Amino acid sequence: MKNKIDISAETSALNTLFIDELKDILWAEKHLVKALPKMAKAATSEELKTAFTNHLEETKNQITRLEQVFASIGEKASPIKCDAMEGLIKEAEGCIEDTEKGSLTRDAGLISCGQKVEHYEIASYGTLKTFAGVLGYTEAAALLEETLNEEKTADQLLTTVAESFVNEQARAEKE
Ligand code: FE
Ligand code: ZN
Ligand code: FE
Ligand code: FE
Repeated sequence: MKNKIDISAETSALNTLFIDELKDILWAEKHLVKALPKMAKAATSEELKTAFTNHLEETKNQITRLEQVFASIGEKASPIKCDAMEGLIKEAEGCIEDTEKGSLTRDAGLISCGQKVEHYEIASYGTLKTFAGVLGYTEAAALLEETLNEEKTADQLLTTVAESFVNEQARAEKE
């Protein structure tokens, strides 16, 4: 610990962490824009295809919102590779390989993978919003909260699809 006196946001160690985490989630969202169309294409049910396709549009918008966050604090929006999102997407690709095309078991698996992605994002944006607040970045905090709420809704939507018919029908499928 260097010092504990009140310092400006720009020189705070938390500020550096905040910016690094912003760059991480920017990379993650960009990676998702490439992955979501593949997940939608692989999905069996129209409901899941629609959920992934709608979230793709939201995700593109989230990237724009992140660029606004960077602009609001005078930082360059340069992505830094997110190992976690790369791994989560690899798991989704593994799910597609391991399940039969046209099956609801595939959808059950894709929903599971999708929800892991959303939960990672919820954790990230929740932290980022809180950091922005502590650092006094009011505009950034509001923008990050908007995305946080979208991620929560996306997660809930996947639960609804799973519980409305996917899990039940997957249960009836033979190996
Ligand atoms: Fe997102
Ligand atoms: Zn990340
Ligand atoms: Fe990460
Ligand atoms: Fe998301």
